[in-house]
Amino acid sequence: MTTDPEVLIAGGGPVGLFSALLLGRQGVKVRLFDINASLQRDPRAATTHPATLEVLSAVDGLVEDMAKVGLVAPIFQFWDRPSGRLIAEFDHALLASETRFPYVIQCEQFKTSQLLLERVLKVPSVEVLFQHEVLSVEQTSSGVSVSVKGLDGIHTHNGRYLIGADGGRSITRKQCKIPFEGFTWDERFIVLTTPFDFLEHRGYCYRSYFADPDEWCNCFKVAADGPPGLWRTVFPTDPALSEAELMSDEAVQARLQKFFPAEQPYEIVHRNLYTTHQRVAETFRAGRIILAGDSAHLNNPIGGMGLNGGLQDAGNLCEKLIEILLNGANDRLLDLYSLQRRTVAIDFVQEQSIANKRRLEAKDEETRQRNFDQLSALAADPEKARDFLLRSSMILAQRRVAGLSLEAA
Ligand SMILES: Cc1cc2nc3c(=O)[nH]c(=O)nc-3n(C[C@H](O)[C@H](O)[C@H](O)COP(=O)(O)OP(=O)(O)OC[C@H]3O[C@@H](n4cnc5c(N)ncnc54)[C@H](O)[C@@H]3O)c2cc1C
Repeated sequence: MTTDPEVLIAGGGPVGLFSALLLGRQGVKVRLFDINASLQRDPRAATTHPATLEVLSAVDGLVEDMAKVGLVAPIFQFWDRPSGRLIAEFDHALLASETRFPYVIQCEQFKTSQLLLERVLKVPSVEVLFQHEVLSVEQTSSGVSVSVKGLDGIHTHNGRYLIGADGGRSITRKQCKIPFEGFTWDERFIVLTTPFDFLEHRGYCYRSYFADPDEWCNCFKVAADGPPGLWRTVFPTDPALSEAELMSDEAVQARLQKFFPAEQPYEIVHRNLYTTHQRVAETFRAGRIILAGDSAHLNNPIGGMGLNGGLQDAGNLCEKLIEILLNGANDRLLDLYSLQRRTVAIDFVQEQSIANKRRLEAKDEETRQRNFDQLSALAADPEKARDFLLRSSMILAQRRVAGLSLEAA
């Protein structure tokens, strides 16, 4: 490419790649930098909600390909672990009149990224530069410039806008001095992945949430490299214990056996321990620099909304950047982006992910029973269940913020 790109993107995770694809296929010149040599395969997000499938469906065949390499999961369940009681079951089929996608797709994040990257590499106006680390960012009234360390040294790259899709520790956000407001949970979360078939042996569906006053759990299935697939379990851990204590073979076996007693030891194919935050950037826009995805917001994974919010950010932002770059729209549209997406992050994702955690970890028996009664009542009434699903599937959030305007803010 001989002329400067119009949009620079820091970060080639799913949010950066989806942004590059949306812009590039409209002919916008894009240059994307990622510090890694290739896509990362660590087990992270998998649940892709109906509202996000709607956004991804802007790219022909993408959702269909995700369903092929993932699992279609219309149902999720809430269980009480101590009593083994199924409290509530929700079926996305109730959303059939609301969305073309009345189900979630369990598609591992690295597969979604791979599907995006394959498409991005076919777009002539997009350059993807792996092994390129964004070191610093600057801007003037007419453009941005980014200092990037590649294999042949440090170079400056210029563009009209920069998207900071460089994850939770975003250098873009830090360089812009945008506060990342919120808090970090004391307990780390542990993810243990096993081929043990929880559906066959226990009757748990592909997305199951377990309330327990001692130790809650999420258990969900991913397709992995093909049938029979793998099951991921997520638990909170004791903040007083070290990583070595939590991750030893003995400790992870004991944890799974305590929760789901089985005759044989569990085969564990992945184990990960990670710190969880609830944070939202004070603004998603600083002049010509815009944040999207984890660089703008972080939340606990209960309910599976983090990446979903990021992909929705990319859809919203790129629509506006295309209007600005190709149709001469006023760049105040980027303020609207910030308003809309911060509203989703704060009023929906933060609020719900914290409520989801509180519901699973409730200790007091009266509160637990009240939670269970509420969930059972919701599940038993199709209209209430549909309203609940509209929220959990993020459709309600998308609809609410579509109506926001800067004038009303
Ligand atoms: C265990 C776990 C389970 C999760 N489950 C779910 C779930 O079920 N559903 C859900 O929606 N979300 C889930 N999440 C959250 C989800 O993984 C993140 O929201 C998602 O990764 C965000 O994508 P992103 O593209 O914004 O950032 P990232 O995926 O973090 O990508 C950022 C990219 O930027 C690159 N980068 C960073 N700094 C630089 C730099 N200076 N220069 C160049 N490149 C840089 C990195 O290499 C990386 O490739 C989960 C997270 C974890 C940890």
